[in-house]
Amino acid sequence: MEILTGTGQSIAKPLACEGSTLFLRKFMIDRRQFISATAAAATASLWAQANEWGGPVLDIHLHLRPDGESNLAHTNGSGVTKAVLLTRVQSVDQSKALAEKHPGRFVWFVSADLQKPESPVLLTKAVKDGALGLGEIKNQVECDGPEMKRMYALAADLNVPIQIHFGDVPQASGNAVFNGGFKRFDAMLKAFPRTKFIAHADTFWANVSADYAYDTAYPSGPIKPGGISDKWLSDYPNLWADMSANSCNNFLNRDPDFTAGFLIRHQNKLMFGCDCPCSDGRGGGTTNPSPRLHGKCIARETLAAAQRMSKPEVFRKIRWENAAKLLGLTSQA
Ligand SMILES: [Zn+2]
Ligand SMILES: [Zn+2]
Repeated sequence: MEILTGTGQSIAKPLACEGSTLFLRKFMIDRRQFISATAAAATASLWAQANEWGGPVLDIHLHLRPDGESNLAHTNGSGVTKAVLLTRVQSVDQSKALAEKHPGRFVWFVSADLQKPESPVLLTKAVKDGALGLGEIKNQVECDGPEMKRMYALAADLNVPIQIHFGDVPQASGNAVFNGGFKRFDAMLKAFPRTKFIAHADTFWANVSADYAYDTAYPSGPIKPGGISDKWLSDYPNLWADMSANSCNNFLNRDPDFTAGFLIRHQNKLMFGCDCPCSDGRGGGTTNPSPRLHGKCIARETLAAAQRMSKPEVFRKIRWENAAKLLGLTSQA
């Protein structure tokens, strides 16, 4: 997450449409038939989500909102089929309940405070309980320090990806450095070849450009080819990229000519995510304060940019296939 999540007032549309209730009243069908009609309505809703972006969309970066239904409001509103709920270990029950209540719409990752000695045990339990990944991992530690090395080994042992927020440059006054030392991260990619790393946030996307000066979280202007993020995506089969938040949206819009080639080059490694604070998947409620994204939904802005800049077969991988494969999801549901 790059900014605080909004209050998340729910304006969710119900998945089971009125049509199924009318159908029940009119024909007095039995319960089994009603369940079938409800499932059909849910399938119709999934199909509607899938059509908006030309097919299904998997959002790998939706922070769990305390009001359960507002998670569905954002997912429906942005045209997303299924979202990964990023869940603190204390809130695992909420994500499990949401995933059960809305079949096919949610899976979840888990995170914990890495400086607490009990965290590895809690994370292991959560993965055994259904978490598909460790994330978002965002702590004030070094990316090659002992706490993170323990997590990389744990992710490999549990055979789940680990999603990391790289923030070497504080975003605003008072904000901190998270998983610092990105320049040295290739040593981790080498040292943990069985670990599936998902890189996210400012420092990763700023370093697509070879001239990044670590003077701002969101650099602008043309990209100088040869940046370490670009190179490492090519060099290391265990590195994937999370396209969420202002950081990737900023990257996508800096230098469209460069970006088109980047999307082709790494078409099997890029995965859509939103990290959007808006309430409804349409830019309502609290939104990102940057002038480019204020009043807008980051999910919509990033999906539209990726769709505009890539061929349909590449966009299909970005919006669904790459993440589905990495998470072992075999179908849309
Ligand atoms: Zn983040
Ligand atoms: Zn949004």
